[in-house]
Amino acid sequence: MNDNINTLDGDAELRLAIMSSIAQEESRKTSERVKWGQRRQMEQGVVFGRSMLGYDIRDGKMYINEEGAQIVRLIFHKAAEEGKGTRVIARELQEAGIAPVRARQWQSSVILRILRNEKYCGDLVQRKTYTPDYLSHDKKYNKGEEDFIILQNHHPPIISRELFERANRILDARAVSQDGKPKYSKRYPFSGKIKCARCGCSYVARCRKRKDGTVYRAWRCQEANKNGQPHTDVDGNQIGCSGQSIPNEDVIRIMQLVMDRLHFDHQEFTDGLLQALQDACTLEQEQLQDRRRNPHASGWKIPGRRVLCRTAGQNGDCKR
Ligand SMILES: [Zn+2]
Repeated sequence: MNDNINTLDGDAELRLAIMSSIAQEESRKTSERVKWGQRRQMEQGVVFGRSMLGYDIRDGKMYINEEGAQIVRLIFHKAAEEGKGTRVIARELQEAGIAPVRARQWQSSVILRILRNEKYCGDLVQRKTYTPDYLSHDKKYNKGEEDFIILQNHHPPIISRELFERANRILDARAVSQDGKPKYSKRYPFSGKIKCARCGCSYVARCRKRKDGTVYRAWRCQEANKNGQPHTDVDGNQIGCSGQSIPNEDVIRIMQLVMDRLHFDHQEFTDGLLQALQDACTLEQEQLQDRRRNPHASGWKIPGRRVLCRTAGQNGDCKR
C-alpha cells in the first residue's frame, strides 16, 4: 500500500514536471505565434494602441478627433512658430484651462511626448514597446532590440511634416545646453564617453534608418551632427566635422575588447600602480632632501610615469 502511494507520488511529480514544461513550451509557442501574427498585422498598418489626443483608434484604424487635433495644432504652433519650450507650453495650456487627455495636468514631459510623436504628421512607428519575456509578459521600451515597423503617410496628418520636423529640430537643439554639453548626457551607457578624434566633441546617440526601413542606433560627432561636413558659415566661422559615425554594436564590441584586455592585464596593472606610488613617494622624499640642500631649486618635479608606462606600453599607446 505504502509502496503504491510512493510510486504514485513519484509518478505524479514526474507527470507534473513534464506537464509544466509542456505548458511552458506551449506558452512560448503561443507567444511566438502571437508575435508573428501581430507583426504581420503591424506591417499591414493595423494600429495597436489606445486612443490619444487628436486621434480616436477604432478597429485598428486612426480617425482624427477634431477637438483634440486643435490642441495638437496649438502645441506645435507654440513650439515651432513661437519658439516656446515644453515647460512654458505646459503652463500656458494649464492656465488656459484646457484639459489634458489621460494625464492629471499638463507637464513638460506630456508636451514633449506630443511634439515627438510622429503620428501627428501621418507616420506610424510600431513596436515602440515589446515583450522580452513570454512568461512575465512585461513590456519594455524598444531601444533597438527589436526592429521597428515604420509606415510613412499611414493616416491623415494633423500637422504638416514640415512643421513636425521644424518643431523636432528645435527640441534637438534645446537638448544641447549653452556650453555645448548635452543636457541628457546619461541617456545611454556610452553617452559623453566617446570623444571625436578630429574636433574633440562628444559623440551623441542617433537613430538611423536602414534601406529596408528598420532603425538602429549609431554614434555621431555632435559637431558633425549639428553642422554636417566641415565648411565656413555666413559669419566666416569654421564649422562642421568629418568625424565618422559608429554603429552602437561596434562600440559595444570595442568596449568588450578593452574590457577583456583590462581583465587580462589586471595583475600587472595593479603591480605597476603600486610601484608607481612607491616611486612617487621616494621621489618626493628625494625632492624634499634636495630642497633642504638647495632651497632655490625650481619647483617640484612631477613623478615620472615610468612604471605605469611599462604596462601601458604593451598596448603601444604610451611614448617612452
Ligand atoms: Zn568631430
